[in-house]
Amino acid sequence: MDFLRPASWEEALAAKAEHPTAVPIAGGTDVMVEINFDHRRPEYLLDLNRIGDLYEWEVGEESVRLGASVPYTRIMEHLRAELPGLALASHTVASPQIRNRGGVGGNLGTASPAGDAHPALLAAGAEVEVESAARGTRLIPIDDFYTGVKRNALQPDELIRAVHVKKADGPQQYSKVGTRNAMVIAVCAFGLALHPETRTVRTGIGSAAPTPVRAKAAEEFLNAALQEGGFWDNGKVITPSVAKQFAQLCSAACNPIDDVRGTASYRRHAVGVMARRTLTWTWESYRGNHRTTEGAA
Ligand SMILES: Cc1cc2nc3c(=O)[nH]c(=O)nc-3n(C[C@H](O)[C@H](O)[C@H](O)COP(=O)(O)OP(=O)(O)OC[C@H]3O[C@@H](n4cnc5c(N)ncnc54)[C@H](O)[C@@H]3O)c2cc1C
Repeated sequence: MDFLRPASWEEALAAKAEHPTAVPIAGGTDVMVEINFDHRRPEYLLDLNRIGDLYEWEVGEESVRLGASVPYTRIMEHLRAELPGLALASHTVASPQIRNRGGVGGNLGTASPAGDAHPALLAAGAEVEVESAARGTRLIPIDDFYTGVKRNALQPDELIRAVHVKKADGPQQYSKVGTRNAMVIAVCAFGLALHPETRTVRTGIGSAAPTPVRAKAAEEFLNAALQEGGFWDNGKVITPSVAKQFAQLCSAACNPIDDVRGTASYRRHAVGVMARRTLTWTWESYRGNHRTTEGAA
């Protein structure tokens, strides 16, 4: 196995163009497991660790440009206000050691349906910035990024440079079911983001379908119910029947399998429970803010 160690982004793109089968390695928390278990024996490893740019982030007007290798720990420490859903999801990843090494670029590279960043990215709204030496940069909407089980929209000569995640304009939540609190891959997971500016709600489901997915019918139902009842303006409690219907539609968006971590029917049920709970938590938080703003006016 040859080890390629580019010192700059341009060198990394050139190396990937020359060796399209080269496997990029960032934190290595997925790649090294695969190599150690002999699941993968790449001809070339492309080490991205010398490219400082990949560890940086910029907070813009509307979104955060998160370098592909920014570790989860940094997201938890520095981006909690801007990206609360992703920060909560980062908290649930593995252990402090893994969170110090692993990042969102690697999670996207692996594209496991159980990756914790995905539901948060789907709920917040994100675009993946990818680049190749031959064709330059393109932005892939997160909804188009996951193409199959552990497959993504990257071309063989492309690398992920950053992820652009919309800054939170309302409460966000992330919930994960696992056999214990630390060091577990999700049995299933759910992300929810309220977007008061556009009066919409977005969801993300993990580990309950071949790819991470949004529960689009559930979102449409809830958006209509909130609009019709004037909930965004009056800040009233969401009725139990609306929450129940939303939960059922989220369960229906799942297409899970039975595996060692859980059965398909358990996953469907648990996603419904997480959907109802995260809706309650985020809506209570929205109502609290709403009352404070009303009181101040
Ligand atoms: C003990 C343990 C527990 C874990 N628990 C969790 C968990 O709870 N939740 C969870 O989501 N994950 C978990 N993981 C998996 C892993 O930590 C995450 O997927 C992490 O985000 C991977 O990031 P990384 O930087 O280490 O990626 P790497 O291992 O370096 O790379 C992962 C994949 O992405 C590709 N890649 C990396 N960077 C780029 C780039 N810039 N451009 C293109 N491709 C790229 C690599 O080629 C590889 O295919 C766990 C892993 C271990 C070992």
